Amino acid sequence: MIINGQKIAQNLRKNIGEQVAHLERKPGLAVILVGDDPASAVYVRNKDNACKEVGFYSEKINKSADISQAELLAEVERLNNDDKIDGILVQLPLPRHLDTNQVIEAINPAKDVDGFHSENIGKLMQNKPHLRPCTPKGVMTMLATTGVDLIGKNCVVVGASNIVGRPMAMELLNAHATVTICNSKTTDLSNKIKNADVVVVAVGNPQFIKGSWIKTGAIVIDVGINRLESGQLVGDVDFDSAEKVAGWITPVPGGVGPMTIATLLENTLTAYMARTKK
Ligand code: NAP
Repeated sequence: MIINGQKIAQNLRKNIGEQVAHLERKPGLAVILVGDDPASAVYVRNKDNACKEVGFYSEKINKSADISQAELLAEVERLNNDDKIDGILVQLPLPRHLDTNQVIEAINPAKDVDGFHSENIGKLMQNKPHLRPCTPKGVMTMLATTGVDLIGKNCVVVGASNIVGRPMAMELLNAHATVTICNSKTTDLSNKIKNADVVVVAVGNPQFIKGSWIKTGAIVIDVGINRLESGQLVGDVDFDSAEKVAGWITPVPGGVGPMTIATLLENTLTAYMARTKK
């Protein structure tokens, strides 16, 4: 069966919109875009549109590519102190002269709706999560729709980046699955995948995971987004061969991508609720 991320994300946005309609103040999300990378500009526009759809207050802040570290940190600090803003997101990647880590650490963890601040990652590691990285959290929402109980399942996460693979593995561990994390130096990857009840792939290598590596009936979540020379968007999984053996599989596009943005809205609402309670 296909796990329809588009549909699940739409339901999530609808649910958020219904909650926002009853709030006195609109939750606010600020997105900072540095430079004019076209892909980043599309992501930021999509986030802004999603905010409008659910009735959030949204600020899209464009900064020129030659902004200094000090100026960017000052902008983050301004938003940290702005009461209208519940969530702050700095669109990555940043130009090379900027220190990404220092910028992420400058965001007030209570407003870190990307969930990348070390305080939020630490809470996830300790299984006391608050704001969780959007893509892995969105994957957990998708997995829940299958109705498959993750407890004791063998899960293989292919990719170990800070924004997807590592937090994804923690999410699955927190759900009491048995987790194997693979990286570029992993040996015998296909055999590890053959034992997996759930495979989550976030590598950035088009159609890299073959259907013949997948256990019959497994759940296959493809986080990868790659554009072929033909212009076609494909994932990290060879969809045509994998869908023949998988029990559930996410398509690209229309799988994990829409969930990431819907989960960003969910996190902004979580941050709003926590800040409003104080
Ligand atoms: P990344 O930072 O480049 O990390 C890639 C990871 O894959 C690294 O941990 C790397 O291992 C591992 N890897 C590389 N080759 C491998 C191999 N042959 N076998 C096993 N592991 C291998 O990438 P990312 O930011 O996590 O993104 C991964 C993909 O997901 C990209 O296509 C990106 O566009 C997509 N993405 C999609 C969403 C969404 O919302 N759908 C969100 C974020 C990212 P090492 O650690 O050893 O280098």
